[in-house]
Amino acid sequence: MTSHRTLYSQLPATDRLLRDASFSALLHEFGHSRVVSTLREMLDDAREHIRLQETLPPWNEDWAAQAKQKLEANQRSALQPVFNLTGTVLHTNLGRALQAEAAVEAVAQVMRSPITLEYNLDGAARGHRDRALADLLCELTGAEDACIVNNNAAAVLLMLAACADGGEVVVSRGELVEIGGAFRIPDVMRQAGCRLVEVGTTNRTHLKDYRKATVDGNVALLMKVHTSNYQIEGFTKTVSEAELAELGNELNVPVISDLGSGSLVDLSQWGLPPEPMPKQMLAAGVSLVSFSGDKLLGGPQAGIIVGKKELIARIQSHPLKRALRADKMTLAALEATLRLYQHPETLVERLPTLRLLTRDATSISKQAQRLFPALQTHFGEQFEVRVEPCLSQIGSGSLPVDRLPSAAITFTPKDGRGVTLNALTQRLREQRKPVIGRISDGRLWLDLRCLEDEAGFMEMLTQ
Ligand SMILES: *Cc1c(COP(=O)(O)O)cnc(C)c1O
Repeated sequence: MTSHRTLYSQLPATDRLLRDASFSALLHEFGHSRVVSTLREMLDDAREHIRLQETLPPWNEDWAAQAKQKLEANQRSALQPVFNLTGTVLHTNLGRALQAEAAVEAVAQVMRSPITLEYNLDGAARGHRDRALADLLCELTGAEDACIVNNNAAAVLLMLAACADGGEVVVSRGELVEIGGAFRIPDVMRQAGCRLVEVGTTNRTHLKDYRKATVDGNVALLMKVHTSNYQIEGFTKTVSEAELAELGNELNVPVISDLGSGSLVDLSQWGLPPEPMPKQMLAAGVSLVSFSGDKLLGGPQAGIIVGKKELIARIQSHPLKRALRADKMTLAALEATLRLYQHPETLVERLPTLRLLTRDATSISKQAQRLFPALQTHFGEQFEVRVEPCLSQIGSGSLPVDRLPSAAITFTPKDGRGVTLNALTQRLREQRKPVIGRISDGRLWLDLRCLEDEAGFMEMLTQ
């Protein structure tokens, strides 16, 4: 007890520390209140250390250095840049699409300066915040008008709330999807105040099923939902958007389609699996199509609705639009991204999502061979390091069953224990720019498809 008291008395007082020259730089950089609260925490920890270990804590030698370390660790952003070597290009937990340089510049500009967001330079009338982008979207999709909101989930909610107006919405049982937990079509219907009418079965839905559901005359909308994140195979039948549009036309009921990802260009021209395009849907007679800004489009998080003028006008004037509208940074990034589509020849080079998706396996494999010797030297003692072919995923529920041939560096612990593997993933996560890979088959896989800053990566890992 006495020895504890002697040790406690050797701990410095907060005021004395704060007066110390070594603390003035910290006070300047982090501010008085954060430095004081950090010191209080350190003093509590020091007392605890003395109580348990009966010695002074190691940082008693240099309080300023320890305080600096703690303050810096607390300062680290919650949104830390990482290397995405998971093999999933559009990784939802890692922020989906990387923005094109043009989009980054456009965002920086609207952050620094007032802009004509809802202001017309050629007259007194207040402009519409989606106006410029709507024109661009019409050009790219053949739509009559467009509306932009926060994300595609918001777009679906808004389409339903504004266009079904409490009426019945007919959807195939095979398309009642759940996207990432909280977004389920039946729940969204309820939230939008409409009544879901399920037709057909999980594997087969026919046009006559939709027709039967409309006989009582209460149907407000016919809806198609793209089954982005799963595929039903075998004995199946679905009704195409074109067939449904024909029925909608005959009955005078709008057909809407939640396309999920959608693509503004034909991906098969680069050997990628084709994804339905909003333009085709509208040409087939669908009244409204919604899709995400940050999936295959490769732009910022946004929800885009394109289609018929009267319906978009109803959507634009619905009270929910005000709650779900996109902010100026989103609109700026989206506009810059859409402008890249006006110049398709340079799209692959300038749009990161497409650039990464179209990297061919041979060039990724060459990159892996290039990195191998240094990684082998650095990690070879504890791990068997290998270059292996692997399959990347597009991600974000886009094209769920398609895989892209790629190459990875793999690390298998030589002692055959998972402990070493966990230590390695931990070590990679603690890097200046954390490296996120994938564990499978008792090894760590670093899929190199998304590794563009090769020099930075190698310098960091092998320093
Ligand atoms: C991804 C997806 C959504 C949700 O889009 P967010 O932009 O993530 O809100 C909705 N419907 C479908 C079919 C999807 O694939």
